[in-house]
Amino acid sequence: MIGLNFDLNFENEARKADSCSLCGNHRRQYELPSLFCSGSCGTRNIRRNAIYYTDRMKQNQWCEPCYGELKDDTPLQLDNGKVTKKAHLQQMKNDKSPEEKWVQCDNCQDWIHQVCALYNGAQNYKSASFTCPKCHIKSEASNTPIPGPKGAADLPHCKLSESIEKGIANALSKAYEKIAQERNWKIAAVEKVENLYVRVVSSLNKKQKVRDGVSSIVVETVV
Ligand SMILES: [Zn+2]
Ligand SMILES: [Zn+2]
Ligand SMILES: [Zn+2]
Repeated sequence: MIGLNFDLNFENEARKADSCSLCGNHRRQYELPSLFCSGSCGTRNIRRNAIYYTDRMKQNQWCEPCYGELKDDTPLQLDNGKVTKKAHLQQMKNDKSPEEKWVQCDNCQDWIHQVCALYNGAQNYKSASFTCPKCHIKSEASNTPIPGPKGAADLPHCKLSESIEKGIANALSKAYEKIAQERNWKIAAVEKVENLYVRVVSSLNKKQKVRDGVSSIVVETVV
């Protein structure tokens, strides 16, 4: 009996972890990222399945021939401003497709893709609780509702989201004015979009070294 229970539970857990309870999909895999060599070969894209070397923070990469050329005592400048050396680089293979991470609901134990739940795993990696949207909907009908999920407006802004949101608001207010003029209405009578928020849930700051030949051409055109 104990064995049977164990098997059932195990199968259940495996099924839950297999598909997202919001989108119903299984593993969400992304394209292999482009990895550029920081060595002397000239920022060549590191091929799929090729061996390369990277620092602990995975800031920079070196292809095999360039790694071979590195001197043991030469400081290696990383894109994040830190410095490392050859002995601290680790060998990797360019064969891993990044996969969307999961978050488990503390209430129903279902597994959900972090992107589907708008859950920021990088920010909440220590001790965050998470209740899925389905449990929130159920709890609304109960006597002890779970405090509501955060809306889009509660998510933090960044420069990109502020700029997009502002741009959309400007474009919309011009469109409202145009409609009001065309129809000879007061602006208050024009139907408006409400609760429109723009947030960036994933962004990456990365410095990319430009080859000397290219930078001398580009510098003059950069404002
Ligand atoms: Zn999903
Ligand atoms: Zn190289
Ligand atoms: Zn749940």
